Amino acid sequence: MPFFCVRCGECCSQMGSVHVVERELETGGFVMANLYTGERHEVEIDPALACLSPDRRIFERWSGACPFLREKPGTGEICCIVHRTRPEICREYRCWRLLVLNASGRRVGRVMERRHLAADDPALQQFWDRHIAVLREDDDACWDEQAILLLTEGGYRVQR
Ligand code: SF4
Ligand code: SF4
Repeated sequence: MPFFCVRCGECCSQMGSVHVVERELETGGFVMANLYTGERHEVEIDPALACLSPDRRIFERWSGACPFLREKPGTGEICCIVHRTRPEICREYRCWRLLVLNASGRRVGRVMERRHLAADDPALQQFWDRHIAVLREDDDACWDEQAILLLTEGGYRVQR
């Protein structure tokens, strides 16, 4: 199953403390520094997204966002304006291990890290608290199988 990014932007919403613009290049590109690893990476704003660059309203919502994060007006869609040249760490990123969909196929939650649920739907959160948060299973693979079975019995679909 390919990674299913819904462009919510949450993964980049705190990355301003990691990725900083070190300098602007004469070519119009930028040198990004990763403050954690010390790596440097040159990026260019995608021409098709350049019109979004001056619009910095996203930082009113997420003051710690990556400097290249923007919202496409009127769509609710968040995007990376250097998407084509973004660093490797951003290319490899997957925000979830298990994706939980409701009966209509809409995303209602993501299981992140070992067992953390990021719920988009209060009903799923209630189901999780009642049936899954109480699971006593140390083995991660077994826990995954049990959680998936319970979610499936509860009418959800799980992708991984
Ligand atoms: S990778 Fe995940 S958190 Fe980031 S925009 Fe896509 S769905 Fe949202
Ligand atoms: S460079 Fe793009 S993908 Fe990477 S953190 Fe910034 S906005 Fe997100």
